[in-house]
Amino acid sequence: MGNTIQVKNPATGDILKEVDVTSASEIETALREGDEAFKSWSKVNAHERSRLLKEWSEKIKEETEQLTEVMTLESGKPLKESRGEVAYAASYIDWYAEEAKRIYGRTIPSNTESKRIVVTKEPVGLVAAITPWNFPAAMMTRKAAPALAAGCTFVVKPAEETPLTTIRLVQLAHEVGIPKNVVQYVNGYGADVGPIFTDSPLVRKITFTGSTPVGKLLMENSAATMKHVSMELGGHAPLILAKDADIDFAVEQTLASKFRNAGQTCICANRVLVHESIADEFSEKLTARIKELKVGNGLHEETDVGPVINADGYEKIHTQIEDAVDKGAKVLYGHQYDKDDEKGYYFVHPTVLENVGEGMDIMQEETFGPVIPLTTFRENEEAVNIANNTPFGLAAYFFTNDYRTGIYYQEHLKFGILGWNDGAPSAAHAPFGGMKESGIGREGGPEGIEPYIETKYLSIGGI
Ligand code: ADP
Repeated sequence: MGNTIQVKNPATGDILKEVDVTSASEIETALREGDEAFKSWSKVNAHERSRLLKEWSEKIKEETEQLTEVMTLESGKPLKESRGEVAYAASYIDWYAEEAKRIYGRTIPSNTESKRIVVTKEPVGLVAAITPWNFPAAMMTRKAAPALAAGCTFVVKPAEETPLTTIRLVQLAHEVGIPKNVVQYVNGYGADVGPIFTDSPLVRKITFTGSTPVGKLLMENSAATMKHVSMELGGHAPLILAKDADIDFAVEQTLASKFRNAGQTCICANRVLVHESIADEFSEKLTARIKELKVGNGLHEETDVGPVINADGYEKIHTQIEDAVDKGAKVLYGHQYDKDDEKGYYFVHPTVLENVGEGMDIMQEETFGPVIPLTTFRENEEAVNIANNTPFGLAAYFFTNDYRTGIYYQEHLKFGILGWNDGAPSAAHAPFGGMKESGIGREGGPEGIEPYIETKYLSIGGI
């Protein structure tokens, strides 16, 4: 392990800060302290936990502009998106501050007069979280808020690219009076910190957002101590336009879905499937709108599409585009890069590819970049087959004003999140999560607190 991690601005390659790597023994101490703090935090009454969470959220909202700037600096996302993410991150805390008060047990009618059956709920214990760089605030709060609301204590390891937002969020939690050992962060490289988390018997739950291979590894390593796991992993979202889709509306929603965070979200549309009868009109209108998008440093208010996070991210996108072009895809727009390997910044201009086929990598793998591959279909069944032909099952979008077509897609798409005429379905009050290799568990909504709660059954006899 090195002693520090350099946090860089992906728009310029400049070093923003060096953060100390938390040593293995310091991480062990954090886990011990988190486990110790669980004894008292789990006994704090739900209304008090709720009050503290609300204060944390208010503090975050008060600091919106500072958090926005930090997030844009370390992640590259445009200011307007960072601002939106601060509000989105706070909305999880607000939601779970309320849910804290609604963790209900139940009584069950007994089959004998001499017994009573009572079911109670308890927090699972110390939670260890590992978060990604693409949503440095929201991925942290949508884990921390339900954990704290349920009475769990929480240690988070943010992505090495974006620790600064997380560090500030944890400081703000402490400033409002959430005890220091109830919510903690540690810094380090995933491969070093992951095993410490998974090996520790003190950690009762691992919650992770990131790539599918790392999620599988964490799950495997959690088996030895039988931890609870929640996994939000990769996606490969299809976006389908049925023949009666409102094209202008679908164009705007496609932009919202695809270019948010320069295409670096796990629910970004990754493949666009258009009914052949409207394909020309859609691609013309889409390309015209994409030409208006401003690519640049996220710190400029007018920027719509920022840099991609780093050289690895760029390589993946670049390789997928070149593979598609080599195999016969036609470039409708984009296919332009602005990068400097020495300084370490990478911009990929929004790109639209036509004539893509299932033999191309871009139709099989998550891109995590601002690229739209367009393909056509004739029958809804064909669209569903193409859409489902992936090991991933996170988000899918379909555009139709015909209710029968809509219901058909709703019933046949094997994805955990569906947007029907909606390119931006995420919300704190709704369950977010994937099927198949996109993960296990849901975050948000009433479902999002369940993974932090144990069920205890009490049978009282001899009555
Ligand atoms: P990406 O490729 O998008 O960065 P990762 O899954 O590699 O996605 O990263 C998401 C988070 O997982 C980051 O916090 C990273 O440090 C962490 N991570 C990476 N590798 C491992 C690992 N082997 N064990 C645990 N965490 C890891």
